[in-house]
Amino acid sequence: MDLSLLKKTLDELELPSFRYRQIVKNYYSGRYLNFDQMTDLSLDLRQKLSQTFSLLSISEETVVGDESTQKALLKLSDGQKIESVFMDYEDWLTVCVSSQVGCPLACSFCATGKMGFKRNLIAGEIVDQILYWNQKIYPKYIGRVVFMGMGEPFLNWENVLEAINIINSKDGLNIGARKISISTAGVVNKIIEFANLDIQINLAVSLHSVDQKTRESFMPIAKKYSLLELKNACNYYVGKTNRQLFFEYALMSENTSQNDAKLLVNFIKSNRLFFLNLIPLNLVDGGMTPATKKQQEFFIDYLNKFGVEYSLRRSFGQKLNAACGQLATV
Ligand code: SAH
Repeated sequence: MDLSLLKKTLDELELPSFRYRQIVKNYYSGRYLNFDQMTDLSLDLRQKLSQTFSLLSISEETVVGDESTQKALLKLSDGQKIESVFMDYEDWLTVCVSSQVGCPLACSFCATGKMGFKRNLIAGEIVDQILYWNQKIYPKYIGRVVFMGMGEPFLNWENVLEAINIINSKDGLNIGARKISISTAGVVNKIIEFANLDIQINLAVSLHSVDQKTRESFMPIAKKYSLLELKNACNYYVGKTNRQLFFEYALMSENTSQNDAKLLVNFIKSNRLFFLNLIPLNLVDGGMTPATKKQQEFFIDYLNKFGVEYSLRRSFGQKLNAACGQLATV
């Protein structure tokens, strides 16, 4: 909802300023599906608001899943479609939001990359993905947001940052910065810009290989920014913020040799605030080959032997094609 237009509309109706705050509070609560339900407003005002505004800029096409993981296909006002995932994960209800329709980076293991880039989302379309889930689960509420859906958040940074401000704001969704995470394929100049903002939002970098040629073979962005540049930017981020930096590493047949493990150990151990998230590779048409059980065990044994700490990410929603890298709408 365009809040500056709301303010203007209420001013024109000469309503007291608390009305604006009341409506905004109602709006972000997730409690109301339409203005008619806001019975704390006069019937006349509700009708006026219904004529001018809609609560969400996106509409549900389909939703699949169970209690713990759900995936929604959402239609935007121009007919483009995105996917958004809800996870009942540990203590916090989490939404995995999309930041773009499609993605220009074309990583070969990722379904979104295979559909190409359609357009950036505007801030409202990002925030509305969370509002959409809030409406569904009311009176529960979303406590954590990860920018790990479709798209590269750092290539739509202005809109993503505007969305983050709304998500984080006390007058908006009021989700703490530490409960928000961004994942990037490694857009080096934006990692530096992000570090300079000195905000408490978590950053994750999709690493997937510490060998330049191998990384290039499945992540075209590696040709633009070398591993050395990426590592320098990551060290800069950690030095500037003194925060942990997470590296995502999906386990494939192509990146789990002894040499890969050795390079990864050196990389992670080079900075005390580098932290490793291992992810089982999810299946994608025309994607890469998941590491076999044997390859995975060998790789993890090697990390253990050299004392590298890691988390093995529980992967949600493979059956729904809702897991990391499986979101696509064409
Ligand atoms: N563009 C951003 C965020 C979107 S993807 C990025 O690249 O980080 C979120 C995470 O899922 C990334 O770490 C991405 O590398 C990973 N991913 C993509 N495809 C995957 C797959 N098939 N299996 C497991 N993880 C995958």
